[in-house]
Amino acid sequence: MAARAAKHRFIVESAVLAGDDVRVEGEFAHQISRVLRLRTGEQIVLLDGSGSEAEVELQVVTPKLVTGTIQAIRRSPAEPRVSITLYQALLQRDKMEVVLQKGTEVGISTFVPVVSQRSLIGRGGGVDERRLERWRRIVREAAEQSRRGHAPEIRGPISLEDAFAEATTTGTAIVAWENERERSLRTALGEIPTGVALSLFVGPEGGFAEDEIALAERSGALTVSLGPRILRTETAGPVLAALVLYEYGDLEPRCADRSAS
Ligand code: SAH
Repeated sequence: MAARAAKHRFIVESAVLAGDDVRVEGEFAHQISRVLRLRTGEQIVLLDGSGSEAEVELQVVTPKLVTGTIQAIRRSPAEPRVSITLYQALLQRDKMEVVLQKGTEVGISTFVPVVSQRSLIGRGGGVDERRLERWRRIVREAAEQSRRGHAPEIRGPISLEDAFAEATTTGTAIVAWENERERSLRTALGEIPTGVALSLFVGPEGGFAEDEIALAERSGALTVSLGPRILRTETAGPVLAALVLYEYGDLEPRCADRSAS
């Protein structure tokens, strides 16, 4: 069935959706009234960051203040049913931004930059608050554009050792390793009970070092091959996430109205 014309979608603080009416000021009001030139009576969709979305009819539309009435609240149909965390070895700035943008479109829930031996950039990679802010804006825009229910979380960089420990405690860890000769992604997913949180690990431009792979195996992570072709590191994460979601049946068409709760 063809979709109706898409409504503009915005991610807002969850408090905005607490009552029956919404009220927003500042940059957001400016964007609605001046940039998009929306008018009283038009509808927009507001996402509260927890996976819910509200359909809102605009009432007052001025550059300083916009108000509207909530007409329906539902679970966002675009949120994946499985939570995927991508532990991405730190990359040069522009490549990291590609991973964040494409990974968000595909459906990754959380990004964690990881310090690994062969990263071409130094320890911590200069990831300060400013950089994280920029990254958060990139995933937020990608989430709005791809009509997701919320923007993925981005955490500060951690060591590979801590990352393996954390990932194997909270769920199952899968490590993309180009030298894996036996286990495919499909085989690995077949070994995992459904419904567990999945953590995916992708190495830097130079790949993971042998002792990092040994550490992964000791931690209980599963190394997998993504086939005979070597993918660039910024390709591997989004592709791996897409393949997981495909195998889990999460890339089927879904109707927004039918999933309303
Ligand atoms: N420098 C290495 C390739 C590194 S590719 C070499 O030339 O052999 C960067 C990262 O992408 C790897 O660490 C791995 O996590 C992932 N990757 C790329 N291609 C892959 C494949 N075919 N199978 C599994 N992982 C792959």
